[in-house]
Amino acid sequence: MTYMKIINYLKLTLTAVTLCLITVSAYAQEANENPLALLKEGNLRFVSSTPLHQHQDMARVDELKSGQQPFAVIVSCSDSRVSPEIIFDQGLGDLFSIRTAGNVMADFEEGSIEYAAEHLGSTLIVVLGHTSCGAVKAFMDIKHNPDHQHADHAEKLGHIESIVNKLNSEDEENEVFKTEGSDKYQKAIEANVIHGVKQLRESTPILSEKYNEGKIQIVGAIYHIESGEVEFLDL
Ligand SMILES: [Zn+2]
Repeated sequence: MTYMKIINYLKLTLTAVTLCLITVSAYAQEANENPLALLKEGNLRFVSSTPLHQHQDMARVDELKSGQQPFAVIVSCSDSRVSPEIIFDQGLGDLFSIRTAGNVMADFEEGSIEYAAEHLGSTLIVVLGHTSCGAVKAFMDIKHNPDHQHADHAEKLGHIESIVNKLNSEDEENEVFKTEGSDKYQKAIEANVIHGVKQLRESTPILSEKYNEGKIQIVGAIYHIESGEVEFLDL
């Protein structure tokens, strides 16, 4: 390699490193200032089949050795089609994930969210339901068919019954059953998200205080498994 070639090579390397640092810095700044925009942009990349797959390499593993600062908490269903890092095109250290069937939350889940908000600096919490949710469907089937509530069936439900009972305890769900129409399933999915957002906004002492002081955002969204799109709800 000639002297000039070496100089040019070094110049190119320096430019690439500089661009990389600018990109990393811009990303970190946007994560701080507008974490919701990062999720929306990531979902757009996913839907348009142009994911960056950033933060999914050994460099990121190395970067995270000293700690994590996930910019968002995603409370989603355990459904294998609703993986937050994939549908939002994020990587290691970006999202703090809570997943249960039907994205229902009790003390363990709320404690995990509080930990992220209080100790990891997460400022955005998303309660993410999804179309064709099996947990909501199970709840609706039982609601429509009281025979399922017979002791024999309850035994077969096992611990799934706790999830169904949780959904049944939500006022928003019971309001859906007072209405008529063929879109009850979709409404029940939304009602569960609306309930989850309300539950977290009113959760004392940590989340409600942070939310009321404007230190964290708590939003609801529906993932459409047919299209890959995340629809953020106006709540
Ligand atoms: Zn589900």
